[in-house]
Amino acid sequence: MPKLLDALSGFRVTFSTMFKKPITEEYPEKPGPVAKRYHGRHQLNRYPDGLEKCIGCELCAWACPADAIYVEGDNNTPDERFSPGERYGRVYQINYLRCIGCGLCIEACPTRALTMTNEYEMADDNRADLIWGKDKLLAPAPETHR
Ligand code: SF4
Ligand code: SF4
Repeated sequence: MPKLLDALSGFRVTFSTMFKKPITEEYPEKPGPVAKRYHGRHQLNRYPDGLEKCIGCELCAWACPADAIYVEGDNNTPDERFSPGERYGRVYQINYLRCIGCGLCIEACPTRALTMTNEYEMADDNRADLIWGKDKLLAPAPETHR
């Protein structure tokens, strides 16, 4: 008799779970919601006039504990202006094979050029495409500046 009681008590969790509503995520057909403060992929922001906020200072790269960011700054010229000040980020790369989503880079950025979005669908089937450059990270230009 004690053995039967042990067995029944062992099945308690099984029986109680059998009648619960299943929680099934239909991913990737129906991606689930994320928390508002979820740290997804990064974005390089622009000012309302379309100029880039990044000044190529590399503070984000120095703050990154995973060495995932590579920046090369350059000077704006009267003919080619990308940001309002003297410098802009000519090369900007984030290696998502290294990034741990800690957010230290966005805290280090003095101009709020770098922020993180809620987007999390970044999987790929090769290493090269997981190094994102400005072409993927830079926010679209406002309509009037295209
Ligand atoms: S979120 Fe963290 S690991 Fe990812 S790039 Fe920024 S500082 Fe580096
Ligand atoms: S994103 Fe911010 S911290 Fe990084 S180089 Fe640009 S301005 Fe500097």
